[in-house]
Amino acid sequence: MRKYIVAGNWKMNKSLAEGIRLAEEVNAAVEKAGELKCEVVIAPPFLHLTEVSKVVGKKVSLAAQNCAAEASGAYTGEVSAGMLQSAGIPYVITGHSERRTYYGETDAILAKKTAQALASGLKVIFCIGEELSQRDSGKYFETVKSQIENGLFQLSAAEFKNIVIAYEPVWAIGTGRTATSGQAQEVHAFIRKILAGKYGQQVADDVAILYGGSCNENNAGELFAQPDIDGGLIGGASLTAEKFIRIVTAF
Ligand code: PEP
Repeated sequence: MRKYIVAGNWKMNKSLAEGIRLAEEVNAAVEKAGELKCEVVIAPPFLHLTEVSKVVGKKVSLAAQNCAAEASGAYTGEVSAGMLQSAGIPYVITGHSERRTYYGETDAILAKKTAQALASGLKVIFCIGEELSQRDSGKYFETVKSQIENGLFQLSAAEFKNIVIAYEPVWAIGTGRTATSGQAQEVHAFIRKILAGKYGQQVADDVAILYGGSCNENNAGELFAQPDIDGGLIGGASLTAEKFIRIVTAF
């Protein structure tokens, strides 16, 4: 049985004090919610990770939003996957569309980052998704297929155990324009089919595929009810503990 996951991507938001407070609030809400159907992950900025790790318990896991493509050395400003692992951070997000668009992260760079993360013992939330023009021209299947093939297909079936995929149509991120549950399910089922073709049905069935893109406390329930949607990667709505916990409990 695959895992359900709800992950909050804080992006470049919150001062350190605000981040600690938000993490405390999320932790308290998760504790209060009792038995959950999903794993809860939060991804604060790098600087906040170790401080946040001191205020969350076992029911909230941490993710970094990025890692370096190299293991160590003269790469000013970078943070390696090994450093994250040494700080006790279990997850890293790679391939977020903001990294692809604003920082020129290509499939080849993302394949290296993902390989570094796995080699360091991290679990990876690998993001894919089409631009609006690709959606409108009907090329969204091609886009997600090539992002998966070029970013992940260097991995072995065994390595795939530590991969979570987040399907995030770029036109839905931060826009308030959520994909319909039907649109999202269509692509999630397609992703699982591609994985089955490469790695076999068991690997495909075991991979958690999250939806991201203006997912909020009002639409999460319908999205998560789809058979191939295993949770969400949440941006804006993860910055308020009350909204985030309503998404976490939306299964
Ligand atoms: C994201 O950036 O991963 C995201 C899904 O953002 P939002 O929920 O704000 O659309």
